[in-house]
Amino acid sequence: VTEQQYVIGVDLGGTHARVGVLTPGGSQVAVAEQALPEKRTPRTAVEVTSALIKKLMQGNHLTAILGIGAGVTGPVIPSQGTMISPHTDPPWQFVPYSAPLAEEFAVPVVLENDADAAALGEYWQGAGRGVERLYVVTVGTGIGTAYIVNGEIFRGRGDWHPEGGHQIIDPASGSTCYCKETGCWEALASGDGFTAQCRKRAVEEPVWLTRLGLTAAEQLTSSLVVQAARKGDRVAHELVEKEAYYLGVGLLNIISFFVPDKIVLSGGLMKHFDLFEPGIRSVINRHEVLVPASEVIIEPDSLDYHAGVYGAAYALLRSLGIA
Ligand SMILES: [Zn+2]
Repeated sequence: VTEQQYVIGVDLGGTHARVGVLTPGGSQVAVAEQALPEKRTPRTAVEVTSALIKKLMQGNHLTAILGIGAGVTGPVIPSQGTMISPHTDPPWQFVPYSAPLAEEFAVPVVLENDADAAALGEYWQGAGRGVERLYVVTVGTGIGTAYIVNGEIFRGRGDWHPEGGHQIIDPASGSTCYCKETGCWEALASGDGFTAQCRKRAVEEPVWLTRLGLTAAEQLTSSLVVQAARKGDRVAHELVEKEAYYLGVGLLNIISFFVPDKIVLSGGLMKHFDLFEPGIRSVINRHEVLVPASEVIIEPDSLDYHAGVYGAAYALLRSLGIA
């Protein structure tokens, strides 16, 4: 690999930016990350990305790169390299992202939605490697979804990125979302949604909180509940079962629409996939009448938190006809 062949992959989320240097063959050379500043302007997305790329290039004695691929939070216009308006980050509205970076580094820049980039990463180097019909769900702060068919990102009208995370699961749940609906998948089953459900339960059942050695519902985190469930705590187990049910319903809808070969689940909460798996499977396996739901493979991701970086780099390589 000559120096000019290295590519940059960017994963720009709602709270963090992560940038990696990769070879065209998919080996990761180095990664740098940074929390986004509290006070953000529309320029922040570009500035943070640019600073991290420079830091990585200097640290690895790179004077040239092949190009930059980026997966960023929220809706994007891939063909124009523009971020539209991430609801999680209102200052970033119609931000030209690719053009300023392309000018600064004098290389091609490719932009994708972050869930699409993560799915491409899993398809290229992760748990979805070579899968013909691959659906990827990221259960993190929110829920991101992406569908990769024969290696291509499934896009909607006008290249819009479909938001499977905001499908309605339980309108009577009372959990509202910034999408303005009640009971969408993200509000109920994302990492933040799960934590909210647990805190609600702690308020209703203060004895449980005391049993966990806590004094306020706000102290409760998803990992504490997961740990308690593993130790056999009844309430924690019920909460895990409810989360698995909500995940299962959303996944069943996806299976009904697409019948993918495999669904890969990523994100912080899915580090505990084994705990949720029986509950998810019991929802899905009940529905065999019209589609072979139990044949759909469901697995946790294998690229840890780096799928977005891999996928963004892959998108760039493909745009250049290299991968
Ligand atoms: Zn929503």
